[in-house]
Amino acid sequence: SGPRPYNFSAGPAAMPEAVLQRAAAEMLDWQGSGMSVMEMSHRGKEFGAICAQAEADFRALLAVPEHFHILFMQGGGLGENAIVPMNLSRGGKVDFVITGSWSAKSQKEALRYCNSHIAASNADSQHTRMPAPSTWQLSDDASYVHLCSNETIHGVEFQELPDLAALGSRAPLVIDFSSHVASRPVDWTRVGLAFGGAQKNLGPAGLTLVIVRDDLVGHALEICPSAFNYRIVADNKSMYNTPPTWAIYIAGLTFQWLRQQAEGALTGVAAIEQRNVDKARLLYDFIDASPFYENRVAPDCRSRMNVPFFLKDESRNEAFLAGAREAGLLQLKGHKSVGGMRASIYNAMPLEGVQALVGYMREFERSHA
Ligand code: PMP
Repeated sequence: SGPRPYNFSAGPAAMPEAVLQRAAAEMLDWQGSGMSVMEMSHRGKEFGAICAQAEADFRALLAVPEHFHILFMQGGGLGENAIVPMNLSRGGKVDFVITGSWSAKSQKEALRYCNSHIAASNADSQHTRMPAPSTWQLSDDASYVHLCSNETIHGVEFQELPDLAALGSRAPLVIDFSSHVASRPVDWTRVGLAFGGAQKNLGPAGLTLVIVRDDLVGHALEICPSAFNYRIVADNKSMYNTPPTWAIYIAGLTFQWLRQQAEGALTGVAAIEQRNVDKARLLYDFIDASPFYENRVAPDCRSRMNVPFFLKDESRNEAFLAGAREAGLLQLKGHKSVGGMRASIYNAMPLEGVQALVGYMREFERSHA
């Protein structure tokens, strides 16, 4: 078979081909064990080794300090919208920064478990720019501050995490980093908890990563299910209930792949970040220079991962998508709430994929302008 098409899905999303090939090679017999990883007991030594290696590789990849737990959970980002307040809110007040659909969903779900205060919102800009941290109305008694560090649908991203202490808040910062995890380094001095589904940047659906600082564990509400209580999950090394073993294995292979990446003198997440910067610049620069396409997000708030764009003549949308499929460029249709197109260019998308997209867009413009 020929080269695979380039897949721009927002998630579940393209995987590194090397990871898929490795998984295929090990599918029937993992390293002489006589078993597929799917067939192993999560309590056995084989899967124990896979899981411990995955955790160690993630810790090394993103330089997660020792005083943070790395938890492998289930329930996805939307599950964490309930699980975080059940574990961290203590039934009190939580500050929310609303920057798009995902943070808005988080705030709504949290209302079942705690009070919420909207400290900032970019709704007046249709979620096309980030509200400056200096304008946030933070409470002095919040249990935590929630934000979504990359809004997958609207394509806005925090280029730097806020320093809440410098803004006068003593609350820990919770970030939903589902759609840009491992695409750039994380400043853990500014974070209390980070969560994300694996299905965009790390692996298959079914695995949720939760990175949580020691002192925030152990305060769950009485109603919190045991399987979602961070204390219980941490004490049982993510094996209180049966974890999503296959997804952890594939994510582990992806962590190894990420650690091995190199760009010039850069390695690991620094190399991936550089590649992501180059990919995003190529696509945004092309869109900005073209009279045929547009991106409506403020330049300094644009996501490196999710690039929503529009054809100025929207009657050409169907032809654009059909031609793209024909050219081996898949899943470019925008989210229904925003319309237009969206190119998700996660870690596994090579520069060549973005070059192919830009080449197609240029040719479509030339033949339809
Ligand atoms: N948060 C963000 C930023 C997301 O992009 C998504 C999924 N698109 C979610 C939360 C929801 O994740 P899940 O479907 O895994 O619950």
